[in-house]
Amino acid sequence: MIKNFKIGAHMPISKGFGKVPYETLEIGGNSFQIFNHSPRVWRSSLPDIKETTKFRKSMEECKINFDNAFVHSGYLVNLASPKEEVWNKSIKLLIQEIKICELLGLKYLNVHPGSHLGEGEEFGLKRIVEALKLVFRETESSNVVILLENVSPKGGNIGYKFEHLNYIMHAFENRIAVTYDTCHGFDAGYDITTVSGMKKLIDEIENTVKIENIKMIHLNDSKYPLGSAKDRHENIGKGFIGISGFRNFLSFEEFQNIPLILETPGSNSEHAEDIKILETEILCKL
Ligand code: MN
Ligand code: MN
Ligand code: ZN
Repeated sequence: MIKNFKIGAHMPISKGFGKVPYETLEIGGNSFQIFNHSPRVWRSSLPDIKETTKFRKSMEECKINFDNAFVHSGYLVNLASPKEEVWNKSIKLLIQEIKICELLGLKYLNVHPGSHLGEGEEFGLKRIVEALKLVFRETESSNVVILLENVSPKGGNIGYKFEHLNYIMHAFENRIAVTYDTCHGFDAGYDITTVSGMKKLIDEIENTVKIENIKMIHLNDSKYPLGSAKDRHENIGKGFIGISGFRNFLSFEEFQNIPLILETPGSNSEHAEDIKILETEILCKL
């Protein structure tokens, strides 16, 4: 691995949690993200002791730091939903996901803030804070940290700008931090391909959530141009951010120590290819 960069991808759990660290090494990574249950259903179960022991052992064997291993919440979770049933189920599932994280020894759980579905941003922001209060209260003894991910500005989404993430984050004293997704940010008009765009981004971060609270970067290229609000990820270098855009982004020291996790199209073999491009075309040439 070049310098001390932390690199990885979103990994499948279909062969069990214990396989993830090995497959991470196979694709050239030292960090990863997973779902901790099937992300398209409300139902989820706690892993048994055999599974969790196997996972912890393989983390050790592969020398992957638990701080560089992330969990992404299920797709159905919407903490901003005006629908009572969805909102309640979202809270319940998030609590369950926190419990699974604890059993696996994983500290960071990435969540989309949620969509207000037309009720307005103020409604959405307050609804999310209310939901997270219940989640944190129910999991008081846990130290699992919720990472609020910046999202694309579409579909009533809360969290496409740092002001939103900051509002939610500052309702709590701890157990909450941020993920920055480069495709979603590009969708929202944050231009990481230019020096002036980066200065603007860093300024905005420093005036809101602060750089030290960004615990993960979702490193995704974008199939669509700046500000397009489409949320279509592209493989590294093949989209509108491009090789030179990522070189510009990663030339800023502020982002060099944060784990870079790919959520680009394809599976392990495509991610191995993306990691190779990232190392040879971008990180080697900073
Ligand atoms: Mn996400
Ligand atoms: Mn993402
Ligand atoms: Zn996305």
